[in-house]
Amino acid sequence: MYTEIKQQLNDELQAIRDAGTFKAERAITTPQSSHVKATPGGVEDSSKAEPVLNFCANNYLGLADHPKLIEAAKRALDERGFGMASVRFICGTGDRHLELERRVSEFLGTEDTILFASCFDANGGVFQSLFGKEDAIISDELNHASLIDGIRLTKSARLRYRNADMADLRAKLEETKQLNDGKGARRTVIVTDGVFSMDGYLAPLDEICDLADEFGALVLVDDSHAVGFMGETGAGTPEHFGVSDRVDIYTGTFGKALGGASGGYVAGRKEIVEMLRQTARPYLFSNSLAPSIVEATITALDLVKESSELRQQLFDNAALFRRRMSEEGFELLEGEHAIIPVMFHDAALAGRIADRMLENGVYVTAFSFPVVPRGEARIRVQLSAAHSAQDIEKVVQAFVKSRDAEQH
Ligand SMILES: *Cc1c(COP(=O)(O)O)cnc(C)c1O
Repeated sequence: MYTEIKQQLNDELQAIRDAGTFKAERAITTPQSSHVKATPGGVEDSSKAEPVLNFCANNYLGLADHPKLIEAAKRALDERGFGMASVRFICGTGDRHLELERRVSEFLGTEDTILFASCFDANGGVFQSLFGKEDAIISDELNHASLIDGIRLTKSARLRYRNADMADLRAKLEETKQLNDGKGARRTVIVTDGVFSMDGYLAPLDEICDLADEFGALVLVDDSHAVGFMGETGAGTPEHFGVSDRVDIYTGTFGKALGGASGGYVAGRKEIVEMLRQTARPYLFSNSLAPSIVEATITALDLVKESSELRQQLFDNAALFRRRMSEEGFELLEGEHAIIPVMFHDAALAGRIADRMLENGVYVTAFSFPVVPRGEARIRVQLSAAHSAQDIEKVVQAFVKSRDAEQH
């Protein structure tokens, strides 16, 4: 039986290779950090790992190997063991899970929070629990795959607006008035990423909240690429735009700035969180977060609360990289986020530059169609508070060298 399927799958895999979109993984043999050792790619012997400067992790605050997080995780291993071996509602709720939920609520300024195994799961649970066939979900076209999948699980009317295009969002809000035989949708929600990860652009949350008010819609923001560092206290893009209390539903991850291990959440109005606890399928049917992750994430929130130093370092690093790259004549997408795309337009060129960067000891990733539009191939650089000024100069020099090599 499998013989035939084996052949089919091998053909499909070969087609992915032929299209040049086969993703070979490099193996990192050190803790995740600004400096790592990584194998050259593919399934490699780990003894071949070489030191590289890492500019493609979501380790925005440099907490992935922070001694205080490691200490907290070890303490939790000693005091609470390795795993919960249960979903939350049977026997998987620890007092520290409840504490982390309280701490996220306090941090974001929401009434309540519910933890998930990942933000992918949070987004997989939030829509189905809250929106049915009388409802409308209006989603930005560049939203994360997990939002798209979560929305697909509903029977709601699904509308998509052009990226951050407020005129198009307005048109889609108008369209919802026709639903339910002209009675309009029972509930309408506008769904957006806080930060669009391929561009580093922020969603215009102030304008989105204005439109939501005008049309009586809810607002859901997935702030995975911003929680912990955007905004005055690091509470994310809603804080950055001064609309924290106008966003009804926040989703996000602990797997990026807040330590980078895993875990996600939905935060917001009390009844919304209560409903998710009763009905969200990834919450009801998937295991509770490991105690060590819970404890270290609480410590990550402590660090963010205690000091703005890491956030400041991150934005100083981003500004330095922008300034130096502009001086060297590279085209960057404008912005204020630590995701900084260096534009090469041509897909093959971007790929070759990324390979040359690695030869020069810098780990960055090229993105081309279909991940970004045709003709907009780029290398996405991600800054971290853990980078030093020397690290940044080294990546700039590697870009210069790689570009020169292309021209000769
Ligand atoms: C990274 C990311 C996720 C996935 O988060 P996980 O916790 O790793 O599942 C979801 N949404 C957005 C916008 C992200 O950037």
